[in-house]
Amino acid sequence: MLSVEEARDRILSRVRLTEPEQVSLEEATGRTPAVASVTAAVDVPPFANSSMDGFALRSADAPGELSVVGEVAAGVGSLPSVEPGTTVRIMTGAPLPPGADAVIPLEQGELIGTDRVRLPSTEVGVNVRARGHDTRRGERVELPAEPLSSATIAVLASLGIGQIAVRRRPLVAILSTGDELATPGEPLRAGQIHDANSVSLAAAVREAGGEPMLLPPVRDEPAAIEAALRAGAGAADLLVASGGVSVGRHDHVRTAIERLGELAFWRIAVQPGKPLAFGSIGGRPVVGLPGNPVSALVTFELFVRILLRGMLGLVGDGRIHLSARLAETMHKDRERRAYLRVIVEPGPDGWLARAAGGQGSAQLRALAAANALMIVPEGEAAGEAGARYDAILLRGVS
Ligand code: AMP
Ligand code: MG
Repeated sequence: MLSVEEARDRILSRVRLTEPEQVSLEEATGRTPAVASVTAAVDVPPFANSSMDGFALRSADAPGELSVVGEVAAGVGSLPSVEPGTTVRIMTGAPLPPGADAVIPLEQGELIGTDRVRLPSTEVGVNVRARGHDTRRGERVELPAEPLSSATIAVLASLGIGQIAVRRRPLVAILSTGDELATPGEPLRAGQIHDANSVSLAAAVREAGGEPMLLPPVRDEPAAIEAALRAGAGAADLLVASGGVSVGRHDHVRTAIERLGELAFWRIAVQPGKPLAFGSIGGRPVVGLPGNPVSALVTFELFVRILLRGMLGLVGDGRIHLSARLAETMHKDRERRAYLRVIVEPGPDGWLARAAGGQGSAQLRALAAANALMIVPEGEAAGEAGARYDAILLRGVS
């Protein structure tokens, strides 16, 4: 059995970056930039402007009574000039008129009749956003090496950039195998279960930044499995199969990978998920995940997510890792590193974790309730109550 690290290293040695493509900012959410930075072609903001609705004035004139000689709204191109002893009404975002060097908020002005106002003292630059206050023209703006956030998209838009080069989403063919599988939404015949893995793995692919392509599930027949694996690997950047990778008489996925391409390894000292097959068919990476639905999603998290992110040029799993104290003893297999499904919450001395439910590899409810996977190392027969372990945060903490 390989260690988790050895398996990850072997998987990452097969990573090939997808090529860049241009997308509009509207389509850029969650896409991974293919450039590390952009150069600002403009100042942001392009001109000094008011951060308040108020009165633009020469700060040296305040405190005092000034005559109101005009008004500037946002978007106005021609500006009245502010001469000594005068002020101009100004709206948020409107260009600062020539002569003015400060803005006093509306509510601090005391109107005298219709065209005079008494204003308190101020200083140069107060309530004025200088030209280039956020970004200077020619400045290099680094893009975080992560899927684009709404804030980074706003930065790009403010720079006047309408399109950005992002990595093409890796296309991932998904194949469930098993004679027992029925499509969700369809009634079950005797001996059948609903296929949870096709849709759960498709969702996990999307979450990791890939584009899933669902293949119709195949029966446990060597010829059908081979045909589906060959078709899937030929049509996608990565093929993810589930089921049929163990040592049962009907487990044909691993041998099919061996026959069609190359099997790099097939067992990892991880719980859940020992039987995981990794190899390639026609030069494309192929992963055979265990069929148990919790094992399939946890091993996807540990091994496929980093591969997909690698194809996008991203390093690591993109998760928050933290250290939490276990509130209760949780048993595990001594030989393997366990990823326990837990709920992490703030505790009296840092993060506290408790079981999210049953830890069986078909107990999906616990995985859905968990917000973290707690890592208990190989060599230990249990995660001990009171001990601290690292955990991978999968979702937010409530
Ligand atoms: P296997 O890896 O094929 O030996 O399957 C292990 C267990 O996972 C068996 O109980 C299967 O019925 C179950 N299983 C396999 N594929 C799926 C699937 N797509 N959805 C839900 N359960 C599955
Ligand atoms: Mg099976």
